[in-house]
Amino acid sequence: MKKLGTVLIILLLLLGTVWYFKGNSFFSAASSKAPHEKLHVIASSYVVYALAREIGADAIELSMLVPPGTEPHHFEPTPGTIIAISEADLFFYVSGQAEPWVKDILGGLSDVTAVETAAIEPDEDPHVWMTPYGALSMAKQIAAALSTADPSQKSVYQQNLKQFEKQIDRLHMEFEKGLSACKYRDVVHVGHLAFKPLTDTYGLSLQALTGTSEQGEHSVYKITGLVRFIRQKKLAAVFTEELVPPELANTIAQETGVRILPLYTIEEVGKADFDSAVTYTEYMRRNLHNLQEGLQCQA
Ligand SMILES: [Zn+2]
Repeated sequence: MKKLGTVLIILLLLLGTVWYFKGNSFFSAASSKAPHEKLHVIASSYVVYALAREIGADAIELSMLVPPGTEPHHFEPTPGTIIAISEADLFFYVSGQAEPWVKDILGGLSDVTAVETAAIEPDEDPHVWMTPYGALSMAKQIAAALSTADPSQKSVYQQNLKQFEKQIDRLHMEFEKGLSACKYRDVVHVGHLAFKPLTDTYGLSLQALTGTSEQGEHSVYKITGLVRFIRQKKLAAVFTEELVPPELANTIAQETGVRILPLYTIEEVGKADFDSAVTYTEYMRRNLHNLQEGLQCQA
């Protein structure tokens, strides 16, 4: 018994030594700065996150503030929000108009550079990224801010921006060609008014359920109006939005016999798309494909 006790004590001492060294090496690794520490970047909502990922790629540590499945216009920040942002070097958001809650927390932030990537005039539509070149202008803001914050990676950011610009040129041409010859040019969207910059750019007209940011107030009057409009124009499809309850589009489709097709605002993201890192251009191609289907465009 006594021998077993001694062995136990020796074992415990050995374990203690291992822990001690482990603890010590961990401590020294944390205290000595790595040769190059990646920028810690936090993005408000998915579109900014997706664009920052294009430009920052492996050179940054990127996270998203508004969780997947959450509508970003009316996000309610908590003390945890401020802590999360404060731990980052850079905070990218869309704009004060698109995300009014940002204004409320900016004053409480220190040691973090907050960058408005899509600044607009008060009366302009906040969904700037809903045209390919609007998204490019946001990507340029992001590249400039990353280059200032970490000049050692500037060439990486500029190279990624160049690549993105090429993708945008191609995307714009696809939209122009893809929406040039369509049977219908009216888009009825059972969601908020997010697609106006897109429909304006490519010569379509848009009827949406609510304004540029409201959600929840879907009046019977508005639904009836959309049903009447679809019948009048003999349209073939109604477009939906991910976070709007599907019953509304279902009601309209049942009343009119049209197809239901989704459009993606990209500001909000479902969990599955977030996990599979769907890119900005992939989302826009889904939008183009569904518009072509619903408006019966020639390929
Ligand atoms: Zn929106």
